[in-house]
Parts: sequence; structure tokens; C-alpha cells
Amino acid sequence: MRRIYLDHMAGMPIDKRVLEVMRPYFDTHYGNPSSPHSFGNEVRQAIDDARSKVAALIGAKTREILFTSGGTESNNLAIKGVAYRNKNKGNHVITSSIEHMSVINPSKDLSKQGFHVTYLPVDPYGIVDVEALSEAITDQTILVSIMYANNEIGTIEPISEISEIVHEKGGLLHVDAVAAAGQIPVDVQKDDIDLLSLSSNDLYGPKGVGALYVKTGTRIQPITQGGGQERGIRSGTENAAGIVGMGAAAELAKREMTAEATRLTKLRDRFIQALLDSIPQSYLNGHPTQRLPNNVNVRLSYIEGESLLLSLDMEGVAASSGSACTSKTLEPSHVLLATGLKHEEAHGSLLFTLGRQNTDEDVTYVVELLPGIVKRLRAISPLTPKELI
Ligand code: PMP
Repeated sequence: MRRIYLDHMAGMPIDKRVLEVMRPYFDTHYGNPSSPHSFGNEVRQAIDDARSKVAALIGAKTREILFTSGGTESNNLAIKGVAYRNKNKGNHVITSSIEHMSVINPSKDLSKQGFHVTYLPVDPYGIVDVEALSEAITDQTILVSIMYANNEIGTIEPISEISEIVHEKGGLLHVDAVAAAGQIPVDVQKDDIDLLSLSSNDLYGPKGVGALYVKTGTRIQPITQGGGQERGIRSGTENAAGIVGMGAAAELAKREMTAEATRLTKLRDRFIQALLDSIPQSYLNGHPTQRLPNNVNVRLSYIEGESLLLSLDMEGVAASSGSACTSKTLEPSHVLLATGLKHEEAHGSLLFTLGRQNTDEDVTYVVELLPGIVKRLRAISPLTPKELI
């Protein structure tokens, strides 16, 4: 049976070129990068090289990059690290209602510790309400954390506008760029960003490794304490193979991003149009143009997303009903609810995320397959009006 993978936001295949670069660091290059001998030195140099490649992807300086265990740790470290370090300056944190849970949950935790957290609303396309930010921000606001682009609906946020508002008030801006980096240009200098999170797997690198950019002069409190690695901010023996892999992945992403984004945008738009044209009462979630090149998120009336996923899986097609990180709970996506959808509309949504190995034929296969499955599922639902069956 043909198998088509359209769930890249949940997990990406590692690029074979990246895997090759990593291999020696599982095998012959086993020294500890902190050790002052040749075994340690060769690993330390490889880590520094990876650091400069990750920095180059986002326009940062090499020493502004810290390696972590992934996007989740980077987000936790940025949010808690800034809040704890600056608690004498203020106790207010602002984020949005569509952030990843690795931003929302540490923010909730801060509320329990006496910080005041504001969750900004978004418009029906998922764009953060910039006026609400201007109204909410005060000189007590120490941190604003807004994602560069949303991982579920693909909406790209107005980060440079947000950055101006935050800095006018003297706050710090953290950006979760896990979903955006490698898909669209992200430049910490152009947008004047203070902290930014990345995840290696979202760049076709290995899972379980990530990075946090911390602008020179920005102070954060460490969360993990120990031997003082990563400038004392993130102790622990470095995941050398993972870090080298992330560096290689960042270098490839930087080199290939423009051509790949053009290819995927065409594929994405054909996919969306074909679905909307061939399935009655189908609608696009997220913004039609301010959107990641790999994101197709549609809502189908009288459909239960999970049943549709299972039917697609039986035909060899892997998609998602929302964020993989929250799909263990059967709660509807907090992102879709924040855009104003009702529970049943959010439940009837389906997310396809395209990737490097997807072809025109993959899209053709799915857009020819889906209308039949939808018709069959609608026919057995008691809620479907007769004219749709
Ligand atoms: N932020 C966003 C926007 C994400 O999509 C993800 C999941 N890849 C994360 C953070 C968490 O990253 P990780 O899985 O590397 O911890």
C-alpha cells in the first residue's frame, strides 16, 4: 500500500545528510567537550561549529546560542529564566492564547508563584491582537512571549510590530520560532528579538535537541544547575551528536529554504483549493496568505476529526487532528477555540503538514481520496443534513 506522510509538524524525518554528519559522534568521537585533551577538543570544536550554523540561520552571533533538549526546554528556560531573574523589576508577563503548551504551562506555573499573566486574544485567522498588547503592557511587564508562527494553523504573527511595542515599554521579547524557523526567514536582528526558541527536529534534524538564542546583555536565571556548561545557563554534558546534527540541519535549512518554501507554497495552495472545491461545507482554518508554506488546516462540518484520521490511516495517509502534543487528551485544540470556533467545529478539523519528501502526486492522491471518505462518514452521522449525503 502507498504510504504518505503529511504530519511533519508532529515529527520530521531526519535528513540523511544530517545523519551522516552525526554518526562519528555516536562512535569514534566520544570525548567530553569540557575535557582539555584532543578527544574533548574535537567534540568541542564540532559543537562550536554547530553553534555558528544555528546562529547563522537566525542572524544571531555564535555566542548567543545555547543548546537545550528541545523547543519545550528552550521555552521553559526563556520564560522562567527571564521571570525569575527580573522579578524585582516587575511581575507581569504577556503571552497569547494560541501558544504551544510549552509556553502556556510554564506561564500558568508563574501565576501560581505570584506573577500576573495576560493571555492576548487572536482574530479569527489566529493573528495576535496587537492593540490588546498595547493596552495590556505596562512598566511592570518584564516579558512578552509570542510565537513567530503557529504550529497548528500556520498563521505568521506580526513580530516586528510586537517587538516595537514591547521595547517602547522596556520589556523583553521572547519568540517561539520552532514552527517558523527553516520554513520562512527568521532574523533576530531585523525583528529586534531578545530570546528565541528553536527545535532541531523541526529543521529535519534529530529529536531531543534544541536551542535558545539569548541576545547579548540579556540576563536569565538558569533552571538546570550543575557543571556550568553552556555559559552556566544550561548545565549537563552536551548531547554532542544531537547538537552536531542540529547544526547540519540548520545549515541545510538556510541554504535550501527559499526554493523549498516556493515549492511547498504551490503544493499547499493547490491542496487547500482542491479540498475546498471538492468537499461541500469545508473551510480553511488560519490565515489564507500569512501562513507557513507547509500548513493545510481545514474544517469539515458534520465530521469527527478522529474518525477521519483513522480512515485516512487505513489508506496509508498520516495526518493530524491538531497538535501532536495535545492529542493525548481528547480536548479540542485550544488554538482553534481561541480563533472563535465552537467545540464541534474544532473537533471537525484536520491538519496536514507537508515536508521535503512530499510530491505533487501525494497531494493528488489525498485530494482524490478525501471527498469519498468524508461522504461516507457524513452518511453515517445522524447530524448530517440530507442534502449533504
Ligand atoms: N513550540 C512549538 C511551536 C512546537 O510546534 C513544538 C513542537 N515541535 C514545541 C514548541 C516543542 O518542541 P519540542 O518538541 O522540541 O520540545
